[in-house]
Amino acid sequence: MSAGFKALGISERTLKALEKKGFTNPSPIQAQVIPLLLEAERDIIGQAQTGTGKTAAFAIPLIEKLEESAPFIQALVLTPTRELALQVCTEIISLKGEKRLRVEPFYGGQSIHEQLGKLRRGVDIAVGTPGRILDLIDRKTLKLQNVRYVVLDEADEMLNMGFLEDVETILEEIHGEKQMLLFSATMPDRIKQISKRFMNNPEHIAVKKEQLTMETIEQLFYAV
Ligand code: AMP
Repeated sequence: MSAGFKALGISERTLKALEKKGFTNPSPIQAQVIPLLLEAERDIIGQAQTGTGKTAAFAIPLIEKLEESAPFIQALVLTPTRELALQVCTEIISLKGEKRLRVEPFYGGQSIHEQLGKLRRGVDIAVGTPGRILDLIDRKTLKLQNVRYVVLDEADEMLNMGFLEDVETILEEIHGEKQMLLFSATMPDRIKQISKRFMNNPEHIAVKKEQLTMETIEQLFYAV
């Protein structure tokens, strides 16, 4: 059994899903972020790159805290690319085990009618790129008034791709009390500005370089 995860206060159901995935010990960012999200309602800035296990660090507490099949979107995850949106969805779905949470990706290029259908049937965790999420908000089909958790994943990439204005417009739509998590490998001024404006006294967690790579990732390179 994943004793390292058990000590973080994770439910049996999620521990089973972790075991199935072959996760035995939490990565450094998971060991820091998971208890903070489970116990304290803190906003968090996680300075961490891909490969640190940052997705599970925010996904596990979301899975633990969300209600099953609520009649509204409970969590919104914004990602810079459709690839990352799909990757995050797959990771959340594999971590949720038997819990009945509907996790759906929303990105440009995918049929809007299909996405409207999903929204009508109900979504608990919406994972999407800022442009498409904003489009669905403008069409009044994606409603954020009951969102309790917001995650900005790879915020610096969203900045590089020119998406931060859309991100701000989306954040302005969320009026109720929310917990916000911001993950970014670097913290340029523009990202700090967003955190100051939209986050509430965030805890800053940084993962050191030598803690970066998960054991489950095999790295190869080819000289060409
Ligand atoms: P991420 O940094 O979220 O993109 O995760 C990188 C990879 O590490 C993904 O394939 C995860 O499934 C995997 N991973 C995340 N956490 C763990 C863990 N605690 N043990 C083993 N593999 C993990």
